[in-house]
Amino acid sequence: MNEWMKNVRKTEPYVPGEQPQVTTVTKLNTNENPYPPAPGVREAIAAVSDESLRRYPDPDCRELIRALAEYYQVEENQVFVGVGSDDVLGMAFMTFFNSEKPVLFPDISYAFYEVWADMLQIPFQKQPLDETFHLRKEDYYKENGGIVFPNPNAPTAILESPSFVEDIVSRNPASVVIVDEAYIDFGGESSLGLISKYDNLLITRTFSKSRSLAGMRIGFAIGQPALIAAMQSVRNSYNSYTMNQTALSAGTASLKDEDWFRDHIARIQNTREEAVRRLAELGFSGPVSSANFLFVTHERVPAREIFEALRREHIYVRYFSKPRIDNFLRITVGTPEEMERLYTALKGILQTY
Ligand code: PMP
Repeated sequence: MNEWMKNVRKTEPYVPGEQPQVTTVTKLNTNENPYPPAPGVREAIAAVSDESLRRYPDPDCRELIRALAEYYQVEENQVFVGVGSDDVLGMAFMTFFNSEKPVLFPDISYAFYEVWADMLQIPFQKQPLDETFHLRKEDYYKENGGIVFPNPNAPTAILESPSFVEDIVSRNPASVVIVDEAYIDFGGESSLGLISKYDNLLITRTFSKSRSLAGMRIGFAIGQPALIAAMQSVRNSYNSYTMNQTALSAGTASLKDEDWFRDHIARIQNTREEAVRRLAELGFSGPVSSANFLFVTHERVPAREIFEALRREHIYVRYFSKPRIDNFLRITVGTPEEMERLYTALKGILQTY
């Protein structure tokens, strides 16, 4: 072993769902939106000038922050933006989770939390979901160095109410509580209303799912000004130009088309409700979804076998080989046509068992 190797940071990276380089795959594995973004987004990207490509972008990201503040009816100093909510969450971990006490998050949750905690050498303790896959709020009453959970949770798609969130936030005035609302636009009631009441609550969101902009990498956080200022200070101690000009323009344009937004959310909700019925007919069940994906298990056939058989038919869904969830599939809600392909393939596969 070379001497320098002793000082290399030990990392165990997050493994995202597969991104095939061909378009022939029916891709229901990474919770992307199956529809193109609002038409104004493409216009805004085309309008990005040579001048603004030549120059550094606005380090304060004012254009996008102003649009978000207006959209969510908060002050500009309550908004932080980053390169997808992964960047925002990573920054929040760096900014707020510096205690010797453990950070708490659910055992079945977004796998990146554990990866950041490991990478940043933050102690953590995973809290088991109950047998119905709900968070147990009492698990978050103990001493801690911070709390983070998605709402709706991933990969379970289960939503907790704002009063549930408030209970955890109010019992932890000495910690920052991060609520990751990556999927909230698909029908969940947001906890944003709690922001004015609690100075320790940070809510993160993304343009990747409900706004069809995963490729652009745009995420944001909303919280009281002191939280946002602390995050900005950490970001500016690391990289002042996380957001590029094209992303700033695309994100701003997306926020201006509310009709597109509502219409496409409704389409995904309708396809989701249809999927629940169709999958139930095939013998699948799972928790009620408040997200753009379903978390399902089959009455007879092991999830891994279904996952592999679907893959052979070029239909990608997500399978997690982890305790408690290794008999479940996470299926992104696609277009009605994509879902028909899924049902047809599943019918064929299940017949062979
Ligand atoms: N939080 C959760 C719960 C997610 O599932 C994802 C998507 N992988 C993210 C955050 C990050 O999404 P993005 O970086 O694209 O905003």
